[in-house]
Amino acid sequence: MNKDIATPTRTKEILKKYGFSFKKSLGQNFLIDTNILHNIVKTASLDETKAALEIGPGIGALTEHLARAAGKVVAIELDQRLLPILSDTLEPYPNTEVVHGDVLKVDLRKLFREKFAAYPKVNVVANLPYYVTSPILMRLLEEELPLENIVVMMQKEVAERIAAAPGGKEYGALSIMAQYYAEPEIAMIVPHSVFIPQPNVDSAVLKLAVREKPPVEVVSRKMLFKVIKASFAQRRKTIYNNLMGSIFGKDQRELLLDVLQRAEVDPSRRGETLSIAEFARLSNLIAEAGV
Ligand code: SAM
Repeated sequence: MNKDIATPTRTKEILKKYGFSFKKSLGQNFLIDTNILHNIVKTASLDETKAALEIGPGIGALTEHLARAAGKVVAIELDQRLLPILSDTLEPYPNTEVVHGDVLKVDLRKLFREKFAAYPKVNVVANLPYYVTSPILMRLLEEELPLENIVVMMQKEVAERIAAAPGGKEYGALSIMAQYYAEPEIAMIVPHSVFIPQPNVDSAVLKLAVREKPPVEVVSRKMLFKVIKASFAQRRKTIYNNLMGSIFGKDQRELLLDVLQRAEVDPSRRGETLSIAEFARLSNLIAEAGV
C-alpha cells in the first residue's frame, strides 16, 4: 500500500514540493490524521460496488482513502493550482477522477449521468469548504440526485443546527429543509489538531441518510420552503407576525388567521416550535388558498 498523504510529514513534503500556499478564501484546511479518515470512510459504509463523489479533494488526503474503499471516486476541485498535485498524488489510484470546477455551478445531473452511469446510488463524502457548507448541502439535496448517504465534515455548529429537533435554539430553516430530504446524525466531533492549517472553529462529521421519499406530502415544495424561511425570518417573532407582511399582505389578516386555525397552529407560536408535519399542513393550506 502507498504511504498515506494525510500524515503531517508527507503533507508538508507535498506542499513544499509544489510551493503550495493555502487560500483561506477557499476554506482550505487539509486533513493530516489517518484515523479520522478511516472513521469518515467507515461512516460512509463503502465497498467496491459503490461510488463516491468528493467535493474539494485538496491534495487527495481523503480521496485516496475513498479510492481504497470504493469502486469509483469522482472529486470536484475548484482551485486549479491543486490539479497537477492531484494528478501526482492520485496516480496510484486509477479508479479516481478529478473534475475541475465549482460544485455550486457544475451541472451535477450531467456529471452523474456521465461518470456514475454504472452505479444506481452515489455517496457524497467530503471535508467541505466551511464558507459554503449550507449552499453545497442544499444544492446536493434539492437537485434530487441518486444519493445514498452524504458524509461530510463541517463546522460543528452547522452540523448541530442541521441535526436539531424542534423546540431548541439550534432548530431553524436549515434543519427542516435538510430533514425534508434526509435523516441527519452527528457521527463524530473532530478536534482542530487534525487539520493544517487549524481552523478556528470546532468541526464535526455529519451523516445524512438520504430519504427514498420525503417524510411529508406537500402540494408545493416551493411553498413549503417559502413558509419555513418566512417563519424564521425573525426568530423572536410569532409565526403570525413572520407570515404577515411576507407571504400575507396587510389586507389578508383574516385569511392568515383562518389558515392557521385550520392547520391547528396557534398564531402566537414561534417557528422553532413547529414540526415538519405542521409546516407541511400549513403550507398546503396556504397553497390551496391561492396566496
Ligand atoms: N479534502 C481535502 C482534505 O480533507 O484534506 C481538502 C478539504 S478543504 C476543507 C476544502 C477543499 O474544497 C479545498 O481543496 C478547496 O480548494 C475546495 N473548494 C473550495 N470551494 C470549492 C467549490 N466551490 N467547489 C469545489 N471545491 C471547492
